[in-house]
Amino acid sequence: MSVRSIAALALLSSAVALPISAQQSAPVLPYTPTSAPRAIRRDIPLTNMIRRAWEAGTRDSTGRPGRNYWQLWNDYTINARFDAPTATVSGSERVVIHNNSDSAMHEIVLRLDQNIYRANVPRAETVPEITDGMVVTKLTVDGANVDLSDRTNAAGRSPRGRPAPPITHPEAIGITQTVATIKLPAPIPAKGTSTIEAEWHFRVPQSLGVRGLRMGAWGDSLYQVGQWYPRVAVFDDLRGWDTDPYLGPSEFYNNYGHFDVKLDMPAGWLVGSTGVLQNPEQVLTASAREKLSRVLQSDSTINIVSADERGPGKSTAAGDRLVWHFVADSVGDVAWGTSDRFVWDATRATIPGKGVIPINIFYEPGNASKYVPAGPTARHALEFYSKLWMPYTYPLLTMVDGPEGGMEYPMFIMSSAGAADHETGHQWWPMMVGTNETWYGFMDEGFNQYMNRLSRFDRLGQTPNVDSLGQSYGRTSGDEREHPLMSDANYGGPMYSFQAYGKAPLMLSMLGGIVGDTAVWNAMSDYAKAWRFKHPTPWDYALFMDNALHKDLSWFWYYWLFTDESVDGSIASVKTAGARTTVVVRQDGAMPSPVVLEVKFAATGPAIRAMKNARMTDSTTAIVTWPVEVWFNGNRTYNAVLDFGGRKIESITLDPGRRFPDRNPSDNVWPR
Ligand SMILES: [Zn+2]
Repeated sequence: MSVRSIAALALLSSAVALPISAQQSAPVLPYTPTSAPRAIRRDIPLTNMIRRAWEAGTRDSTGRPGRNYWQLWNDYTINARFDAPTATVSGSERVVIHNNSDSAMHEIVLRLDQNIYRANVPRAETVPEITDGMVVTKLTVDGANVDLSDRTNAAGRSPRGRPAPPITHPEAIGITQTVATIKLPAPIPAKGTSTIEAEWHFRVPQSLGVRGLRMGAWGDSLYQVGQWYPRVAVFDDLRGWDTDPYLGPSEFYNNYGHFDVKLDMPAGWLVGSTGVLQNPEQVLTASAREKLSRVLQSDSTINIVSADERGPGKSTAAGDRLVWHFVADSVGDVAWGTSDRFVWDATRATIPGKGVIPINIFYEPGNASKYVPAGPTARHALEFYSKLWMPYTYPLLTMVDGPEGGMEYPMFIMSSAGAADHETGHQWWPMMVGTNETWYGFMDEGFNQYMNRLSRFDRLGQTPNVDSLGQSYGRTSGDEREHPLMSDANYGGPMYSFQAYGKAPLMLSMLGGIVGDTAVWNAMSDYAKAWRFKHPTPWDYALFMDNALHKDLSWFWYYWLFTDESVDGSIASVKTAGARTTVVVRQDGAMPSPVVLEVKFAATGPAIRAMKNARMTDSTTAIVTWPVEVWFNGNRTYNAVLDFGGRKIESITLDPGRRFPDRNPSDNVWPR
């Protein structure tokens, strides 16, 4: 023990000795949080970012894109070559950035997600294999060479304490990281354009026996290729350049644009990709082209290339190398898959108001059992979600087998039948509604999980049911590991999956418990249409829903989006005097909810009188509702008076649809 510690101990013991008298004189005040009046917050907190957007008129309180709304648009021309023996993708690209913003850009931020496979990058997930990442060998901005000598340390930060001198040519910072910044000597003016040219290469990481991280290789014969070209980050009216790094768990936030992609492949390797194949006569056999011409005629699945058709001239056109040319419009990204072993099946989906589109399915011959049902599952998803939200816009959907079994890209999913419904659902968010999935995962994964449940009921020919989901949140509420939906999911912590995937369906279940599920679906459909090919925030979503539902639900959005609170309702007591029964309903949580009681009457007795806030669901059951406003006075109990004319009440259930978050639903029934 050091001298200093002994001195500290002496101080501590005198400190302990002193307050005894103080302890005796101060009364002990037990802390009972639920005895205090409940302060119910009834507004949606506005951060500086959304305030600025409202002031600029890019967004407003209607929840629709504002009169001054803008977003970037990028035109990509990409040429890439794939070499099978080395698993190498080598590419060159030309990107025209349209700065549609109202300000000059002093830098350009690039996404080099492939660098997540490098050894020295920040990561929140393990990767199947360490590679050299994306090696950028050439980069120019408007013809000027970018200095690629990376000025970052291993963690991707630029060195501290060094004032940045004025630069005379563009400089890259973080070129070995997943997000890189190019400092520009002269800004790109508002409404101006800038052209980037890049050359790069990388090795596709092996993922044999483990799940790929949104891409990967099975041996030397099957490759899923995503995050494969330098992509321009989003620059928006909210945060300017989006510089959240790619850490693994959270996905992407992308600009819309046009992609013209040429993939130079070994002959005999089939390619499935985002986009429409422009040159089938150059890369496919006559037999495959003839079969493809029949795909749109029926819902049956047609085999385009079989397991027996291998090699140049059989699985593909003859030759040594073949250049596959794909074009995609109004997409944020492109991904593809290739194999010299792929079986290619195709079927169709019928999109309301649009007509029939093809679904391509590429899989290993040994995985046929997982891919034969995939076409019908994807067809159901495309058709169901088209009716639920808005028609699927894109001209096709392609799915590929491989080490990643559940990932989505525009028009393209890495999935078998198992995840086909979910990954197809992503075509609505974030593909057609361009949410920031990195930050607000719930607007993407969460909304998707909710609609997947509706789709599952529909597929089974059953009425969709989202009862009980909302109530179940009471079991999670209060867990300090849970980050609120509004906090950046990229740093979502141990409960990232719950934040991104789990919670939003529970929120939407409660919303349906207040306004009705059909009203929720109609409002979501209008929201999807209003923000098609645009970038909504949670504020836009919440306010759009309020307007569409003609209801001020600010309190609802506050508790669900910004807190981890629950309602925690109960029936405290039931007393009958004459024909009137008073149900004392209690809420111990911070979140309020409407009071919904299911009242079951005896089969006989005096006539059941109508109550204006009640509806009969059968001859002896009433659902009685009081609005959430009954709690706005801060009380924790509400006397719900039943005045049905004296028929004996046999039982009462609080929140019969189990929509409102509740720690302990067993106290929601009377008699207990
Ligand atoms: Zn998903």
